[in-house]
Amino acid sequence: MPVEDPKHVLERVFGYREFRRDQEPIIERLISGGNALVLMPTGAGKSLCYQIPAMIREGVGIVISPLIALMKDQVDGLRQAGVRAAYVNSSLTADEARDVEMGMTRGDYDLVYVAPERLSTQSFLRRLDETRIALFAIDEAHCVSQWGHDFRPEYRKLDLLQERFPSVPRIALTATADTPTQAEVAKHLGMGETDIFVSGFDRANIRYRVVSKSSARSQLLSFLSTHHRGDSGIVYCMSRAKVEKTAAWLQGEGIDALPYHAGLDQRLREKHQQEFVHRDRVVIVATIAFGMGIDKPDVRFVAHLDLPKSLEAYYQETGRAGRDGLPANAWMCYGYGDAVLIRQMVERSQAGEERKRVEHQKLSALLGYCETATCRRQVLLRYFGEDHSGGCGNCDTCLEPVETYDGTVHAQKALSNVYRTGQRFGASYLAAILIGEADERARRNGHDRISTFGVGGELDRNGWTSVYRQLVAAGALDVDSEHGGLSLSENARPLLSGERAVELRRDAKPVRGSGASRGKSGPSVQELIASPGDRDLFEVLRAARLELAREQGVPPYVIFHDRTLLEMVRGKPASLDELAGIAGVGATKLERYGQIFLDALSSAS
Ligand code: ADP
Ligand code: ZN
Repeated sequence: MPVEDPKHVLERVFGYREFRRDQEPIIERLISGGNALVLMPTGAGKSLCYQIPAMIREGVGIVISPLIALMKDQVDGLRQAGVRAAYVNSSLTADEARDVEMGMTRGDYDLVYVAPERLSTQSFLRRLDETRIALFAIDEAHCVSQWGHDFRPEYRKLDLLQERFPSVPRIALTATADTPTQAEVAKHLGMGETDIFVSGFDRANIRYRVVSKSSARSQLLSFLSTHHRGDSGIVYCMSRAKVEKTAAWLQGEGIDALPYHAGLDQRLREKHQQEFVHRDRVVIVATIAFGMGIDKPDVRFVAHLDLPKSLEAYYQETGRAGRDGLPANAWMCYGYGDAVLIRQMVERSQAGEERKRVEHQKLSALLGYCETATCRRQVLLRYFGEDHSGGCGNCDTCLEPVETYDGTVHAQKALSNVYRTGQRFGASYLAAILIGEADERARRNGHDRISTFGVGGELDRNGWTSVYRQLVAAGALDVDSEHGGLSLSENARPLLSGERAVELRRDAKPVRGSGASRGKSGPSVQELIASPGDRDLFEVLRAARLELAREQGVPPYVIFHDRTLLEMVRGKPASLDELAGIAGVGATKLERYGQIFLDALSSAS
């Protein structure tokens, strides 16, 4: 049988013309029988790297994935494109599983998805011995790493693959950036240096933005109603209680919001996740329990009402936005309380000295990101060891440059005020002293008679809170682990003595009212369409898609991505031939849905 060219498969099955930058060499490597460890950011297109070789090589591609809940959607997506795919996991009955396994040995499939615990059973391995295998793909390969946050013991056993099936090519894939994890995965899975393919980690379509917290809820609402009316997105909160409250409040504001956290009943949790994936317009409000392996390509925003745990976590969480490559927003609301809380958490941690030091560093990196007056993308990528020249043009600091000033005098006043009041108060008390406002407590403490009382008239209360926040973030102030009182750290000394100058940022004034910042935060999908008529047309296509998805019980995006609908709106194809030219329309989908979408296009225009 003549072997089909990868590019031809790309076009015929997936409806795409060109490979993305890093896909082709990886695909070539596997087709020729080699191994690959692929590090690519979310949304870069990892799946095609094993799907296409699996279709081209003889035999079935076995995909090992820890995300059982996702397998069905992944397989549904492939079947929509006409690929012979199936999955085996604990959601199937014993009979169903056996049928798939037998089909696999018969050669009925191009791809079979399987959970790692199933793969390593003796019975499954015996099946594999009787099967012609095209390749093994190990998805979420960082789960191998014992030091990583997603460690899965059953992933450790995957080294059996190279021992038992030495002639079958293996590809391991992950979006996790850090080098130690990378090395551990490579070693464990028997990959050599030349097998490693690293892509850059930049997510160019994501617009990063950090707003200074005044009233988080109304800031969130204003962000949503200005930029994301009708969009799907994720709002992250730190605690379960806050998740529930925020979701209920958003519902009250007319937003289709659903809560998700580990304390919810399992069934309810699954239902909410399902709704998020299967319906348009749902906003999920969640703790970090949500999101691992969410494949939904049209998540238009990720909002953080609280700080993430680290910059890695932030990158991963925000990375769930915009997998389809269309513009998406990563928005975070950050204030004095967040900086204090996170410092306290490290103080409280029971970890040993060495570990604490690492935690402090991670935390400083995170706070540094929040406080930076330079390009956020540059700061973020530098953390992962990647150079970026800055000036990305797609983050808040690039779009609306932050004003900084020589804040040495302000820092000195703020710090000596901490000293004079006995190093045990928080920012709001301290700010009041500086601007010369003494309440009952301050008078009782005699703080209306100290030398720093009233010396800070040049700023208001918010201004001083901002100064304190920046000093905490910069590590010039320590935070008491119980009461949150501020005290001077070693780093404060050179500032107080004037040996070191300090640059401070002037926070943007909070924007009141909803329309004020329109257009600045990155467009929603609707805003990508210029004419109102075309926006209606887009909605007509979305409705047609939803109906098809409902009938088959699959997520809308497995029918067509937003991106594909958007191209239809722009190109207005009038024949099946023209429709076939739209990215994302492969042969099978053209045959199944072509006429339906042509009809929708012509009826609405
Ligand atoms: P990852 O697993 O790396 O997060 P996916 O494999 O889910 O990414 O791909 C992300 C999106 O990019 C999908 O919607 C996929 O259809 C699309 N995509 C992948 N490769 C290409 C390509 N060569 N041309 C156009 N779109 C592509
Ligand atoms: Zn930038």
